[in-house]
Order: sequence, then C-alpha cells, then structure tokens
Amino acid sequence: MEHSVQNEQMELIVQRLHKLQHDLGEEIAGLRDMLAEVGTDREQFDTSERSDALQQRNMAKANIMLSERRLRQVEVALRRINEGDEDFGYCRSCDAEIPFARLSVRPESPLCLNCQQQQEVR
Ligand SMILES: [Zn+2]
Repeated sequence: MEHSVQNEQMELIVQRLHKLQHDLGEEIAGLRDMLAEVGTDREQFDTSERSDALQQRNMAKANIMLSERRLRQVEVALRRINEGDEDFGYCRSCDAEIPFARLSVRPESPLCLNCQQQQEVR
C-alpha cells in the first residue's frame, strides 16, 4: 500500500480543519454569550431556578473548555501541515499511520484510535 494520505486527501483535511476552526470559534463565542446571560439577574431567581442556572453555567463552562481544547488541537494540526511536518498523519504516541478514514473525521487528533481510547480510559 502506498502512503495512505494523498495530496487531495490532505487538501480535504486542511479544509475540514479550517471549517472546524471556524465552527469551534463560533461555538465558543455562543457559549460565552450564554454564560454571560445566565449570570445576570441572579437575585430574581428562586432556589430551583438558581440551581438550574448554575447547572447551565457549569455545562456551558465544561463545553467551552472542551471546545477550546479541540480548537487548540485544530490549530496545532494546521500549523504542523503548514510547516510540512512529515509526521502529520502518524500517531504521536505509537507512531502508527492514522488511517484517512479517521483523519477525515477527527483531523485534529494527534493520536490513532487505539491510543485515543486508551487515553480516554485513564
Ligand atoms: Zn497510536
């Protein structure tokens, strides 16, 4: 088998990364707006409304953190491609070649599926 990530596939991955960068940016901005809204008029809430609001805040904060982490991965991946990093497309942990099927779904991930799953278990 030839190198599994061909030029056109690379272009597709770069496109996906740019789209992800844009979408994640919007998502984070939207969540920040929501967080700002939930935080206002706190005194008007009764107790149950306040705990709902708190829950919403915590969820929004968790989502912002996840999205920001993913956005950083996207930016790192784009930088690596721009710099012509030949190791792009290979797992950071075990050096296995990451199949295009996975790269096209999670182009920002520096890990193969196995290593990713192991990391999530930990
Ligand atoms: Zn791996």
